[in-house]
Amino acid sequence: MKKQIAILGSTGSIGTQALQVIEEHADLYEVYVLTANNRVEELIAQARKYQPEAVVIANEAKYTYLKEALADLPIKVYAGEEALCQIVTEQPIDIVLTAMVGYAGLKPTMNAIRAHKTIALANKETLVVAGELINELASQNKTAILPVDSEHSAVFQCLAGEIGNPIEKVILTASGGPFRNFTLEQLVHVTKEQALKHPNWEMGAKITIDSASMMNKGFEVIEAKWLFGVRPEQIEVVVHPQSIIHSMVQFEDGAVKAQLGMPDMRVPIQYAFSYPDRLKSSFPRMDFKLCTQLTFEQPDTTRFRNLTLAYEALHQGGNMPCIVNAANEIVVASFLNDGISFLGMSDVIEQTMQRTTFIAKPTYEDYVATDAEARRIAQELITKSQQ
Ligand code: NDP
Ligand code: MG
Repeated sequence: MKKQIAILGSTGSIGTQALQVIEEHADLYEVYVLTANNRVEELIAQARKYQPEAVVIANEAKYTYLKEALADLPIKVYAGEEALCQIVTEQPIDIVLTAMVGYAGLKPTMNAIRAHKTIALANKETLVVAGELINELASQNKTAILPVDSEHSAVFQCLAGEIGNPIEKVILTASGGPFRNFTLEQLVHVTKEQALKHPNWEMGAKITIDSASMMNKGFEVIEAKWLFGVRPEQIEVVVHPQSIIHSMVQFEDGAVKAQLGMPDMRVPIQYAFSYPDRLKSSFPRMDFKLCTQLTFEQPDTTRFRNLTLAYEALHQGGNMPCIVNAANEIVVASFLNDGISFLGMSDVIEQTMQRTTFIAKPTYEDYVATDAEARRIAQELITKSQQ
């Protein structure tokens, strides 16, 4: 029996690489659902190629076009956020890969957990916003959440065979992004074109900006807390510009395990699909003769304040990480529209953290309200700064 896979966000960077993994192992995996937001032509081409049971386009305005384009095929076509939340519960689905970007991933992920689907989690925002709630739901429903994020997959791989051995420290590596060596003065003037050029990874626009601003690493610290049950002070970030060591775990005897490999997201995607097994792949291999040095640096939290803001949010807990995520989504969208400067993004996030209503023990409804309130406040702050 082939495993049936639902890919939320199939037209994105993770989504398309997941399809390559499925193609490589067509004897083991089959696409059950493909979804997108706007890129309808890409979704149509994927649907024709992989012949899923159903496709969902989140943007309802694209529904008629999509439906007509696939009219000659026996593929069910749906549109809208609600359809996305429903489709993940369909009985034949084994694995839901959450590869959509942002807060929009939260509700479908919750539904997939309730429907006892294995979650291959790329959408880190889900754990940033509501990690505690997601963990509770996953344990109530006995659902596995398997990390796709390369750092967390690395930690997960280091933990294989270590049941009962406590973690002393998780060491997340960070490439440092395109502005690693920029001075604060240089950062004042950086453009979105510069920020969109990541040295080691090809990713969607939002996470590429998050990587340049180090918010991505801040989010990954929060993600690590919820995935591995460690305290904030047990999570260390180290800049490793070559992106060869994907992350490390230090155990109580002082031994450190690391997972290394090419910067290729297909490896962690495949591991999440095949866990606990490893499958043969044709992906490029490391050549250590060409890799003459692996270097490490302290992250600079004066130039990259987002990392500090994320740790602060983690310490405060409650809905604070949700506030940071919402403010970040607004500032990144604005930065991509030339509405805010690179450094201005951290200012708005910090002020949004101060102004949004704090809730110590949020419910799902509280997260929804917090997300809306923080977005409104961040948007107002941006508008004011433009006047
Ligand atoms: P992309 O921007 O490349 O792709 C995002 C996908 O989500 C697209 O299919 C997009 O559709 C869809 N989408 C966007 N907004 C919505 C929405 N509101 N509702 C439904 N679908 C939506 O992003 P990435 O693939 O780079 O990243 C996806 C997730 O994986 C993010 O959470 C990111 O942090 C995480 N991740 C990514 C890594 C990477 O290497 N790319 C590494 C680690 C984690 P459309 O194409 O139509 O816009
Ligand atoms: Mg990562």
